[in-house]
Amino acid sequence: MPLQPDPSYVGRFAPSPTGPLHFGSFVAAIASWLDARAAGGRWLLRMEDLDRPRVKSEAADRILAQFDAAGLHWDGEVSWQSRRLDLYREALERLASMEATYWCACTRKEIADSAITPDGAGVYAGTCRGGFARGKSPRAIRVRTKAEAIAFVDRLQGPVEQSVEREVGDFVVFRADNTFAYQLAVVVDDAEQGITDVVRGADLIDSTPRQIHLQRLLGLPAPRYLHVPVAVTAAGEKLSKQKDAAEGSSRDLRAALAFLGHAAPADVADGDLLLWARGAWDPSAIPRRRTISVNAAARSP
Ligand SMILES: [Zn+2]
Repeated sequence: MPLQPDPSYVGRFAPSPTGPLHFGSFVAAIASWLDARAAGGRWLLRMEDLDRPRVKSEAADRILAQFDAAGLHWDGEVSWQSRRLDLYREALERLASMEATYWCACTRKEIADSAITPDGAGVYAGTCRGGFARGKSPRAIRVRTKAEAIAFVDRLQGPVEQSVEREVGDFVVFRADNTFAYQLAVVVDDAEQGITDVVRGADLIDSTPRQIHLQRLLGLPAPRYLHVPVAVTAAGEKLSKQKDAAEGSSRDLRAALAFLGHAAPADVADGDLLLWARGAWDPSAIPRRRTISVNAAARSP
């Protein structure tokens, strides 16, 4: 079903400036932009630069250059998570005031010995829920989770359900390295920026129930979600930001559109690709998969 125009739509793309966008992130950016523009909505750009040791100063410029090359324009100023720390601190204080959080003294190694979560970390068993053992020191702040499943309907992938307590455990909202966790920052930002629709790679679908849990605790609205397939190598591995960097060229654009089930006819001129895709955009045409392997050299499915 093609989208109905929705001028209240606010979308966003939120890259981490730790390197240039690889082809998979470029695909997610194109999908997010097209979904917003096809609805007649706004599209914001947010740099997720909280992870200071991994952020590279030139990477954000490189990403903006990739967008310029592709003709992807965003609305308003680029926002930077590193300049929004007061908002995250306020949310963390609210969670603490309702006793939804607690300090955890467990080391990474202690947690790694437990079962594995959908994104490869250890399931946290709730060891410090009732306080930590004498002699240990607090490291990170975790939010309490519940056994009951959190469910949502993804616009592409369909119904998703997860018991966050069983499958992930109480998760970190403030890290041992004094950094606000991604899960907290993304929820605060999406609400504060009035985001109605999140379109991103399916590698983040398993973290969505955690975000919904935080939205509910903080009394924030939940956006709609659309998780597009993630490009992986033939061996099923993640693409590399350096080796598989997209240029934003019309060749990348054609490959990204084909990946999203919107292959442009050959007679569409390079300069008209986005305009064509905006008119043709139909999320139900995107392959309903979480990953698709691509030929890295040709960057096509
Ligand atoms: Zn602990």
